Amino acid sequence: MTPGNLFIISAPSGAGKTSLVKALLKTGIDLRLSVSYTTRPARPDEVDGRDYHFVSQDAFEQRLKQGEFIESAEVYGNYYGTSQKWIDETILSGHDILLEIDSQGMQQVRCVFPDAVGIFVLPPSPEVLEARLRQRGQDSLEAITRRLAAAREEMAHVSQYDYVIINEKLGTALQDLTCIIHAERLRISRQLDRHRSLITQFAGMPVP
Ligand code: 5GP
Repeated sequence: MTPGNLFIISAPSGAGKTSLVKALLKTGIDLRLSVSYTTRPARPDEVDGRDYHFVSQDAFEQRLKQGEFIESAEVYGNYYGTSQKWIDETILSGHDILLEIDSQGMQQVRCVFPDAVGIFVLPPSPEVLEARLRQRGQDSLEAITRRLAAAREEMAHVSQYDYVIINEKLGTALQDLTCIIHAERLRISRQLDRHRSLITQFAGMPVP
């Protein structure tokens, strides 16, 4: 069984990452989305076990202590973690995985899976980012300023990623994301895993 690919997608709040990932999964692409553990309370439209595993601070710390997370981080005052067991089982069964995590998590996952493909989503301009953050609820000016500062901090990590998508139009960004996933699946290293005898036959010699 050829192990699956691991894709990591990160973005500052306001870049439209969640909508993009939802649109990607709706296309029916063969990709498993990891469901993270979080201490953040569920939002009204979120379902436990589908969007996140919502757990108490104590339960989260217990899992952390038992080494259950491949990565974990504090983001905007809440804790998030990704199940190592789920990742290992899913990858080993040959499925591609998508992790929707922040840059701290990406760096930790890369220590275990150096070939993980990092994709960063950026908003089209600072003005659009600010407008999108202002549109979210009725936050105070202070809260918006804090979110903008956090977004800038997250965007400072963009160069650590393999790909960048500028999310101006959802349709175009979706096309970009789909292309990245397809291209990664067609890498010679991946194709050799699946079609070694055909490729070596045509190459006329063993291919390393
Ligand atoms: P939200 O609470 O708005 O769904 O997510 C807030 C931030 O936490 C986003 O940047 C999201 O990518 C990040 N995040 C969600 N799950 C995880 C996780 O398991 N690990 C890490 N490191 N970040 C996560």
